[in-house]
Amino acid sequence: MADCIFCRIAAGAIPAKKLYEDDLVVAFHDIQPAAPIHILVIPKAHVTSLASVESAHEAMLGRLLAVGSRLAKEQGCSDGFRTIVNTGRVGRQEVYHLPVHFLGGPDVLPPMLKH
Ligand SMILES: [Zn+2]
Repeated sequence: MADCIFCRIAAGAIPAKKLYEDDLVVAFHDIQPAAPIHILVIPKAHVTSLASVESAHEAMLGRLLAVGSRLAKEQGCSDGFRTIVNTGRVGRQEVYHLPVHFLGGPDVLPPMLKH
């Protein structure tokens, strides 16, 4: 989609600090990091949100988590990280192109969920 910022990043039309790219996903540093390490992993294809995934997206969904886990550890999240998928208005999703956030750093993140 031409007006989608994440589609444009995936296509290389908007510069980003890319960490990884393959046939299904692209990973890059979040431009407004909410933690010392804040990686975004997105599908290359335009998928609006986690609420709109279908069975055909299962391989891509697995890739998002596997790539994010590997990159988080490579970037320094050696003692854990937080993974967030904001979905829709209630989930405070800002860009309507499925984003998976990986956040971490040297210090324990502030509490958000108890488990
Ligand atoms: Zn998009």
